[in-house]
Amino acid sequence: MTETQVLVAGGGPIGLAAAIEARLAGLDAVVIEPRTGAIDKACGEGLMPGAVRALLRLGVTPDGHVLRGVEYRDARRSAVHRFTTGDGLGVRRTTLHGALLARAEHLGVRIVPGRVDHIVQDGAGVTAAGIRAEWLLAADGLHSHIAREVGLALPAPPRRRRFGQRRHYRVEPWSDLIEVHWTRAGELYVTPTAGGVVGIAVLARQGVRFEDALREAPELAARVRGAEPVSGLRGAGPLRQRTRGRVAGRTMLLGDASGYVDALTGEGIRIGLDQARAAVAAAAAGDPTRYEADWERVTRDFRRLTGALVRGATSPLRGAIVPAAVAAPRLFAGAVERLAR
Ligand SMILES: Cc1cc2nc3c(=O)[nH]c(=O)nc-3n(C[C@H](O)[C@H](O)[C@H](O)COP(=O)(O)OP(=O)(O)OC[C@H]3O[C@@H](n4cnc5c(N)ncnc54)[C@H](O)[C@@H]3O)c2cc1C
Repeated sequence: MTETQVLVAGGGPIGLAAAIEARLAGLDAVVIEPRTGAIDKACGEGLMPGAVRALLRLGVTPDGHVLRGVEYRDARRSAVHRFTTGDGLGVRRTTLHGALLARAEHLGVRIVPGRVDHIVQDGAGVTAAGIRAEWLLAADGLHSHIAREVGLALPAPPRRRRFGQRRHYRVEPWSDLIEVHWTRAGELYVTPTAGGVVGIAVLARQGVRFEDALREAPELAARVRGAEPVSGLRGAGPLRQRTRGRVAGRTMLLGDASGYVDALTGEGIRIGLDQARAAVAAAAAGDPTRYEADWERVTRDFRRLTGALVRGATSPLRGAIVPAAVAAPRLFAGAVERLAR
């Protein structure tokens, strides 16, 4: 049987980052991933400044479009905050995946095609997909099979379920900001990426059609009218996913598999990178309880601030969010900075 110190389930961005972290910490790492080639996924593709810095630390510098801040807009007004701690980057998922994969392979990570569907754990290690490891880092995404198998998944809350959809257009970016258009249908999250491509992600309740949501933001619709769509429509959700804990024996959950709030503040990758770092540090120290505490710390703002914003966005107060951001620019700036860090 193949043996390794760290087995990672899921070769998405956070699984690959965890494998890179493991190699940088001097640990062997194997990644199991069912899909091959450049993996795409419904994502807003805005890397916050903190994510750009964390990737740089891993030696990963993907090609992208510089993002200098965030703009909230409704039909009548706009609030802008420019990042003060460095730039973000708009990066196509396939580009990000390619850059992480190349770095992982360069560092000697083995990528094995397959799927983790059954785990056996004991005091000394864990066996999954025919591989024996000291630690299993589970980064198998929003609907994590592993979180359910090890008894850490909680049912998705029945109320306020939100879904994401995204499509790309070949059009020269018109802004260096992430634009969030607040409409009656939902939020449209616009990210410029490299090569004259702009991505639009729609965040809304179930049943809202992408084209209908786009029509609700006429200025944005006009910008992409006639532009060639360069990707198919992809969706994901429900976005909110909860876990009762992040550690079960020698298995640690990270990335979306460890729980997710919402895509509205564009932080999934940044938080997942922090989790990958913390999980590998816990594995190297042989102390998984340390990961649970670190997970609480690195996700606190996401759970509290993004959670509060989504509660507002799904309440009768929704229409007051952009006016409030305009009326209280320091508050808006403070929230964006905290989440972008
Ligand atoms: C609409 C939308 C917009 C978003 N916008 C942003 C944004 O602008 N910025 C940002 O930072 N984040 C954003 N996010 C969040 C971001 O996409 C996620 O946080 C990120 O993809 C999490 O990465 P991950 O590696 O944990 O999971 P994933 O990217 O989902 O990767 C999981 C991997 O696990 C594999 N897998 C699944 N099951 C198994 C198994 N049993 N065994 C082995 N492998 C398995 C899958 O094939 C997949 O490759 C957005 C999300 C959505 C839905």
